[in-house]
Parts: sequence; C-alpha cells; structure tokens
Amino acid sequence: MLSKEEIVKSVPQKGFIGHPKGLFSLFFTEFWERFSYYGMRAILIFYMYYAVKDGGLGLDRTQANIIMSIYGSLIYMSGIIGGWIADRILGTQKSVFYGGIMIMLGHIALSLPGGVTALYASMVLIIIGTGLLKPNVSAVVGDLYADNDARRDSGFTIFYMGINMGAFLSPLLVGWTQKEWGFHAGFAVAAVGMFVGLVVFWVTKKNLGLAGSQPTNPLLPGERKKTFSIFGAAAIVIAIAGVITYLTGNFTIENFSLLITTLGILIPTVFIAYMYRSPKTNADEKSRLLAYIPLFICAVMFWAIQEQSSTILATFVDTRTDLMLGNFEISPAWFQSLNPLFIIALAPLFAAMWTKLGERGPSTPRKFAYSLFFAGASFLIMVAAIILTGTGLVNPLWVVLSFFLVVLGELLLSPVGLSATTKLAPQAFAGQTMALWFLASAAAQAINAQLVRIYEMVSETSYFGVLGALSIFLGVVLLLMSPMISRAMRGIK
Ligand code: GLU
Ligand code: ASP
Repeated sequence: MLSKEEIVKSVPQKGFIGHPKGLFSLFFTEFWERFSYYGMRAILIFYMYYAVKDGGLGLDRTQANIIMSIYGSLIYMSGIIGGWIADRILGTQKSVFYGGIMIMLGHIALSLPGGVTALYASMVLIIIGTGLLKPNVSAVVGDLYADNDARRDSGFTIFYMGINMGAFLSPLLVGWTQKEWGFHAGFAVAAVGMFVGLVVFWVTKKNLGLAGSQPTNPLLPGERKKTFSIFGAAAIVIAIAGVITYLTGNFTIENFSLLITTLGILIPTVFIAYMYRSPKTNADEKSRLLAYIPLFICAVMFWAIQEQSSTILATFVDTRTDLMLGNFEISPAWFQSLNPLFIIALAPLFAAMWTKLGERGPSTPRKFAYSLFFAGASFLIMVAAIILTGTGLVNPLWVVLSFFLVVLGELLLSPVGLSATTKLAPQAFAGQTMALWFLASAAAQAINAQLVRIYEMVSETSYFGVLGALSIFLGVVLLLMSPMISRAMRGIK
C-alpha cells in the first residue's frame, strides 16, 4: 500500500495558479460534471410535469417534485457506496472515470425520446455514477497536498468555485437549448458537458501522480468472497421485496418516497452510532462526534431549504411568477443560475472577511446558526411576496431575493461544514468523511420528498412561514448550545 508521503511526492506540486497541476484536472472534471448535473436538474422538473404537447412527460406536478427529491437524495446517499468502492476495490481515479461514463450515459438516455422508461434508466445511471464520482473527486483534492500544506484550504476553495462555475453556466445554456430546441436537446447538452469532463480527466490524469491510483484499504482475497455474498444476498432481498410490493399493487411513488425518507434518516443515524461505538474511536473523538450531531441536524435543515430551489421554488417561478420581460419570456430554468452566481460573487468576500476577523471570527456552531437564520429568512420573504402580491402573478425579483438570502447562509455552512466534518470525524473513518457530509444533503432531500407533498395540502404562506420559522428556531437553539458544542469539539475550531 502507498504511504501518504509517496503519494504527495508523486504529485507535481506546481503548475496551476500556485497549486499542484492535478488541481487543474480535478477542477475541470468537477466543473463539467456539475455543469451536466445542474443543467439537467434545471430542466428536469419541467420535463416531468409539462404536458406531452409541450414536450414534457405530463406527470402530476406533486409527483414530479417527489421524484426530484427522491432522486436528489439517492444521488448523495450513493456516495457511501461510491466511497467504499474507491477505498476497497477501484481506487479513486478509476471510480471517478467509470462514474463519469455512467453519468454521461444517463444524460444520453434523457436526450433520446424514451419517455418514462428512459427517465428511470437515466436516474439509475446518474445515481450510481454520481456516487462513484462526486465524493471521490473531492477526496483526491485532499490527496494532492501534504497534511501540513498551507495551500490545502485554498485548494478546496478553488475547487468549490469550479463547482459553482459549472452550476452557473449550465442552466443558462441548457435552459436556452431547451427553449429553442426542446428538452431532449437540452439533456444532450448535459451529456456533451460530461463527455468533455471525461476527456479532460483522461488527458490530464497524469497530473494526479499516484493520488487515487490504488484502493487505500483493498479487500483481501478472503474478504472478497464474503463481501460479494453479502451484496448478492442484499440485492436478492431488495429484488424480492420490490416484486412483492409490485404484485400487491403497493409500488407507488408515494410509498417509495416513504422508504427513502426512512433510509435518509436511518443511514446517518446508524453511521454516526457505529463510529461512536467503534473501538477505534477514542474519548476525544467520541466527544467530537457528539458535538457533530447538532451541527449535522442543522445542516439537514439548511439543505432542505436550499435544495427546494430546484423543486418547490422552480415550480413556483414557472407557475406563479410573471416571466414576461416586454415581449421576451424568461426561461424558468435560468433562475437556477442565480445561486451559483451569487456564490461566485460572494465567496471571495466571505473568505476575506474570515481572514480579517481571524481569531475574532464566529465559531463553526455559530456560523451554522447564522446560516439557518438566512435560510429561514429566505422562506419568510416568500410569505411577504405572496401576501403583498395578493391575487395575480408574483414579481420574480422576490424569488431572486430569496435565493440571495439562501446563498448568504450557504457560504456560512457549505465550505465550513465540509472542513468541520473532516476534522470532527474519527481518524479511523477519515476515508468516509466526504460521504458523511453528503449524507446531510441526502437526508434533507429525503425529508423534502414528504415536504413537497405537504406543500400541496396547505396554503403557500403557511408552508413557507412554518418552515422558515422552524429554521430560525433551530438556529436559535444552536446558538444557545454553541458554547457547549465548542467545548465538546475538544480543541477543534
Ligand atoms: N452545491 C454543492 C455541490 O454540488 C454542495 C452539495 C452539497 O453538499 O449538498 O457540490
Ligand atoms: N451552490 C451549489 C453548490 O455549491 C450549486 C447550486 O445549487 O446550483 O454546488
């Protein structure tokens, strides 16, 4: 097995704006992957519920929103399996590459006129593909630097900018293509994006040196058989359960969503409990894990609101706002570019603010609490918009303001959360930390699968009002708990 020193020594340490050349490869691979992902998601919801005569699938709108949430949840849940495969079988480089191929095939499936069958096939491919690619490509970023390298954090910031640049450009391009040439053409643009990402990765892979070239904890021959029998047995049980539910007529989206919601909550709970009880976890690490629980719960609340920008709020923009600008009709998909645009514009400001504040800057739990205040405000603004408008179409600038508020919260939580996770997770589970952090997004969207149903049952103002207030309430609780949490973090900031 390779040591960390051997890996870092094999990586060219310069060549990309003062960073290892490999960061260039990872930056553009992830740029294009996120380009394809967020481009696809910007039009997918409309593809599902638009009438057949408008090029859509004509699904019920609530069902479309449930599917979007389940899909988003599974995409981040599959990261645990993707991380495991890289760790024990393939190594991160191969996982990223194979994952990218599956994602591309998934987008190709949607670019063909295959109806609902193609939709589900595409989802399966993209769930597995993203599970293989997303946590692993981020993990390789960490592998490029020696542990004490001062450039590591800024490396992650550059990478994060790449994510958001891809997420910014694609809704514009994919949305425009869809408007001019229809949905399948839009999805084809996403497929081309992933193809470019794969080419970049393949051609510049040598910049990564040995980073991610081998599994870090390979399965031993004896373990192999046992593991594959467990996987095989699990697959059979799932298949049988699926067939029984189908034959008894219980296989509905609603029932499936209940399963995903349960899993979304259960998996992180079991995972954290498992780490806590592991003999490899020492007393300090146990205390840190306990400190991590309230942070994780708040991250779930935050992502539940943030992720609704591509479901509930996307639907709101499409159906409840006035998109005519004179004679020109704004594409509702373009609104998905706002979040990453604000992130790109504001991330440097936040970074400068933390540097300036130095030691006086807020602690991690406090930042999380503030982020919940902004997330809550973003929903309360929607209540104001709806009440002030009365009947008729809402001015879409309200939604722009709502997205802006979410981004202020996101900048307080997203980059901070990832680094907090890497520091708070027990050493023995370091390889799974990326996946652990993504489980917050998985749980959030698993819960959203139920929330989007409630949205149809209650008034818009009570929906946004109650969730906004809940987020602020959780923020207050976290703020009150923050000295205690900071103490339990045992020296970690
Ligand atoms: N939007 C970010 C990304 O796609 C954050 C994802 C998340 O943690 O949910 O990488
Ligand atoms: N801000 C998200 C992320 O960091 C992107 C998005 O929601 O479009 O990638």
